[in-house]
Amino acid sequence: MNAYVSRVIEAVKAKYSHEPEFVQTVEEVLSSVAPMIDQHPEYEKADLLTRMVEPERMFTFRVVWTDDQGQTHTNTGYRCQFNGAIGPYKGGLRFQPNVNPSIIKFLGFEQTFKNSLTGLPMGGAKGGSDFDPTGRSDAEIMRFCQSFMTALYRYIGPDVDVPAGDMGVGGREIGYLFGQYRRLKGVWENGVLTGKGLSYGGSLNRPEATGYGAVYYLLEVLKHEGETIDGKTIAISGFGNVAWGICKKAMQLGAKVVTLSGPDGYIYDPDGVSSSEEKVNYMLEMRNSGRNRVQDYADKFGVQFYPGEKPWGVKADIIMPAAMQNDVNMEQAKRIAANGVKYYIEVANMPTTNDALYFLMEQPNMIVAPSKAVNAGGVGVSGLEMSQNSERLVWTAEEVDEQLHKMMINIHKVSAEAAEAYGLGYNLVAGANLAGFQKVATAMMEQGTF
Ligand code: GLU
Repeated sequence: MNAYVSRVIEAVKAKYSHEPEFVQTVEEVLSSVAPMIDQHPEYEKADLLTRMVEPERMFTFRVVWTDDQGQTHTNTGYRCQFNGAIGPYKGGLRFQPNVNPSIIKFLGFEQTFKNSLTGLPMGGAKGGSDFDPTGRSDAEIMRFCQSFMTALYRYIGPDVDVPAGDMGVGGREIGYLFGQYRRLKGVWENGVLTGKGLSYGGSLNRPEATGYGAVYYLLEVLKHEGETIDGKTIAISGFGNVAWGICKKAMQLGAKVVTLSGPDGYIYDPDGVSSSEEKVNYMLEMRNSGRNRVQDYADKFGVQFYPGEKPWGVKADIIMPAAMQNDVNMEQAKRIAANGVKYYIEVANMPTTNDALYFLMEQPNMIVAPSKAVNAGGVGVSGLEMSQNSERLVWTAEEVDEQLHKMMINIHKVSAEAAEAYGLGYNLVAGANLAGFQKVATAMMEQGTF
């Protein structure tokens, strides 16, 4: 591998041994782009890679809130404005007890290249808090969001940094965050957040966008292989917003999603979660209940529930991990390969450990698609929401869907072409990294060293 790339990876490993997820994503991205670094000796002179792995700005803040019993709680808030070379910082907020600097940094780093792949002018960022929303009342969620925004509002803005949702942050939370931003700033700047409600500047199809985009990307992969989606079985993990979008689109296209998972285990529905609107809509109810349990689906529809297990032993044509980081490790990857799965389509951010990812990529009959390309439709439609807000108009659902579909076709195309250009064949993982990296690198080089 390119000596400069190796040196930077080793330096990151040594400096951030306490941030394993961040080290993992740096290794994955930088080793993919090594062939490009070979061709650009000027990058080393400008120390581009070390600059690229150092967030432009990252800060924590105290978030104090009071529960319904009058007890005060204190959480840590985070925002990592990783790279602003190609546009205002952009990326979601995650509320989950395991949020820490490593998770926020890995997500911000991934976001930088993902946002670049959308073709829209958005830099990379991520934020959130170690707050656990499970079982919290609506009033508690509102007070938490208000406190969070009170600390954050000075550092964001429509041309500065535009947060959105991620795990634990959906339309309800964005509403409370926006309300507090407006109250504190005394301005109508609805471009400051995306994933908003339709009554105050949200985009049609934003809730569906990540799942729909993932399926549109899958269609391109299938087309490349001369296959269609009709009648295919899909095993997915997760049961949140992204999983819901996949099921909804799968239902329209005649594919069968047979599994969902949660922290409590997974369910297997041989008829398909995507077989009826009632089932797909029930996913929203499960999410809104705040119980964070997928067993409720099994209880309601009389299907099998497997407590404490992941769905990766299930035989399906397509695997789409759509839950969280490192959901598939080496042992589970071996089960997936042994089942003869042909399509491994990552959806959640970094759902596969690096050893498992490389193992799956080596399987002769398997096609692996990387999350930073597959899930880019979510932030892509956030970019379209920003455009609508600055134009002060609302696009129809059809217009947004058409743009999203085009965007996903293009992301697949530029990834495949980038891999091909470096002699790597149909390597979508390397291709996405190369294509996403190139634009950020060029912008940084042209803007001088800082
Ligand atoms: N959290 C989502 C992601 O991982 C969406 C970010 C956004 O819309 O800004 O890309």
